Amino acid sequence: MTARRALIAGNWKMNGLRADGLALAKDLAAWLDGEGRDASNRLDMLVCPPATLVALVAEAVTGSRLAVGGQDCHAAEAGAHTGDTSAWMLKDLGCGFVIVGHSERRTDHGESDETVRAKAAAALAAGLVPIICIGETEAERDAGRTLAVVSRQINGSLPEGATGTNVVIAYEPVWAIGTGRTPTTEDVAEVHARIRDEARGRLGAGADDLRILYGGSVKPGNAAELLGLADVDGALVGGASLKAADFQAIASAS
Ligand code: PEP
Repeated sequence: MTARRALIAGNWKMNGLRADGLALAKDLAAWLDGEGRDASNRLDMLVCPPATLVALVAEAVTGSRLAVGGQDCHAAEAGAHTGDTSAWMLKDLGCGFVIVGHSERRTDHGESDETVRAKAAAALAAGLVPIICIGETEAERDAGRTLAVVSRQINGSLPEGATGTNVVIAYEPVWAIGTGRTPTTEDVAEVHARIRDEARGRLGAGADDLRILYGGSVKPGNAAELLGLADVDGALVGGASLKAADFQAIASAS
């Protein structure tokens, strides 16, 4: 097993006009090359702007240590899919990653594990690293089904050809996203350990290289505790990734 390098990923969701996005990205890129150099020596930092800003941000941070990704992609390379963006288009803009299966996509757009798997496969084919999101709803947690749900999702969403290094998993309990609530560290540790075990069935020893991110109300105040857990290899951050100081503090805490 190679040591897993942490990944701190920001999901801007549907936020930001050109001036805000550009300022935030430039601020982060400058920090990684300056004051945040220690952090950037030990971890990867990624921003996933809305589709409208990907080209602008990717161009602005070219040559810096800040990576850029998409928030979603279509499973097809091109064609009659109005409003969608393909993984190849994101790659063409300079992206290295794409989030797939975020719970907001699963809920708002009815995406199934099968859809997510097809999108992750497209990402791999286009040369992107898919960040595959999984996580239970509050009702599923209350019914004691968390481990069963994440096991099903990981098996259903991992594409053919996945290895420990060409995909990333993000565990995001749906009820913790944007709510300020987080599971206990014991719960996070238990679920992450289960995800790695489950991934071992598909990836073999490669599961030891797999980066498993935690997402759901990560803030500067709880980052060190969450990111210090054994099987937590970084964070997928929503709200707190929109403020440079908060996102930098989360990266510094890892
Ligand atoms: C997310 O949207 O992936 C997320 C984790 O959001 P937040 O950090 O705001 O909970």
